[in-house]
Parts: sequence; structure tokens; C-alpha cells
Amino acid sequence: MISKERPFPIKIQKLQVLLLRILENHPKTNFIKENLSKSLAGYNGEKSIDYYLSLLPNKSFYILHDIRLLINGRYFQIDSLLLTNRFALILEVKNIAGSIEFDSVFNQIIQKKNGLEIALPDPIVQTGRQESQFRLWLHEHHFPPFPIRTLIVISNPQTIIRSNDKNVSQQVIHAALLPNKISQLNDEYQKNILLDKDVRRMIKLIKKLDNPLNPSVLNQYQIPRKDIINGVLCEMCSYLPIDRVHGYWYCPACKVKSKSAHFKALEHYDLLFGEEITGQQLKEFLMISSPSLATRILNSVCVKSRGKGKGKVHILPFKQK
Ligand SMILES: [Zn+2]
Repeated sequence: MISKERPFPIKIQKLQVLLLRILENHPKTNFIKENLSKSLAGYNGEKSIDYYLSLLPNKSFYILHDIRLLINGRYFQIDSLLLTNRFALILEVKNIAGSIEFDSVFNQIIQKKNGLEIALPDPIVQTGRQESQFRLWLHEHHFPPFPIRTLIVISNPQTIIRSNDKNVSQQVIHAALLPNKISQLNDEYQKNILLDKDVRRMIKLIKKLDNPLNPSVLNQYQIPRKDIINGVLCEMCSYLPIDRVHGYWYCPACKVKSKSAHFKALEHYDLLFGEEITGQQLKEFLMISSPSLATRILNSVCVKSRGKGKGKVHILPFKQK
């Protein structure tokens, strides 16, 4: 049973919006595009294991995707966590093309692709760290000691995996082997350690304390506010900025009218600048001059606010979780 769905990553949404709102010839455009395509490959890799996980019997497995928890002042992140009464399994999904060789002497993997060789951090070290952090987290929240296993899942079926170390083949698999591997673990751990209520409490607590990484993309890429293109985007042809004419948004490019095109623009605002917005900031971003229209839009979109008068801050309702 899926207890926590895999969200469409906030980081990808932010990069997509950023690319829509900087000039095509901006010096950072190519770098952002590269990072976006890496993030999309990672996300697609993670999604591709969902089919294999859906083959598991519903009742005895709980699956939590994309979790980030705090222990000893530091966060750790898990792509997918499988929970049973008998054991937990941490899955780290890697979408790496070409061929990869595990080098356990130097703790690196060597990727060969299109005649090029590069070293990447060893995911076995990474999953070892996740395992010990998750163990500490369970201890801190008073769960009994509990077997935790880890697997690195190579999501691209064409990737060639090489290693001379037998241990690697125990810990690294192609996605198609996932059901077999889980059934092996199922045979290995037959003794119930957690009560059903412990498992339920664990799932509830993980979901409550999960804290997705949500950094400011403008800080991260050092893009000044002035480089962001203001305005409302056409829902049909993505033309930016469209005009406000007689109570409608009107696209001069495709001539389409809209009553609600500002919603998307405010979602963009939220992704780029955060959930807080003043009337002045809204006027500037939507490129409107009427204070009463700004107030109308704010009151129709935002439920929460704080402060009064000119300094009143409205809270955009697009929950990023
Ligand atoms: Zn248009």
C-alpha cells in the first residue's frame, strides 16, 4: 500500500518556472537547463520503479516515497522506504546511463558513457549513511530495534553494472529484479517485530515530520529579482505578458481571453519568491496599475494575511508539499 505518494519535485517545478521567466539568452539559461534535465532523469528513474512496487501484496507492505527527516541536527533523505512488521527496506534509485563500475577501494563509481569516463560518489556509502541515520531516528522516536536493509536500484535497464566485489551484487540491482529481491528478504525476515500499531505510528510520524527541501532557486542560481520577467502568461500559447482589458486577461498573440490567468502567475510567484506577497508586489508582478484590482485578486486568491494597510502581507495558498 502506498502510504506517501511521490510528489512531482518542487525543485523541478521551480526550474521550469525559472526558465519561463528569464530571457532565453540569459547567461545562466544553459546551466539551469542542464540541471533541469538531470533532475527530470532522476525523477523519471524513481517513477519507473513504481510499476515493480505495485506488484507487491498490498496488505503487508507500506511504501513511503521521497522523505526527508531530521536527526541530530541534520537531514537525511530517502527515495523510497518499504515498511513491514518484520523489516524496513531503503531504496536508492539511480538513473545512470552507459556502464558503471563499482570501485570499493576508492568508494566511487566510474561511469562510462559516449567514450567519456567520470567518477561519481559511491551510492553504497550513501545508503549506509541513510541506514544508520534512519536507525538513529527510530531509536529517538522509541521504536524497537528493527532490521533495516538497503538496495540501490539502477532504473535504466540498459545500464551495464560491473564490479569484482561480490557484496556489490547483493546491494545493487536492476529495477526488474526488485520483486525477486523483496521476496528474498521476505523469506529471510519472518519474525514479526513491530505491532501493527507501531507500524501505523511510524508512518504517521514520518509523514508529520517529513520536511521537503525547498531552497530559493533565485539564491541558488544567484539570479537577481530584476532578471525575472513579470507579467501574466497566456494559458494557451504561453505568451508573456498578456494584457488586462475590460476585466479580462487578453493575449495579443493568440487573441484568447481569460478570467483566471493570474492564478498561474501567482503560482510562479510562490515558486520563485515564496508564499508571502504584498499588494505592491502583486501589482508589479502581474503588471497591473489599479490598487482595487490588486486587492480584489488578493482577496479572491489568498485566505490568510497578516499586518494592516500598505504593509499587509498576504499568504499565497499554493501548498508546496
Ligand atoms: Zn496566447
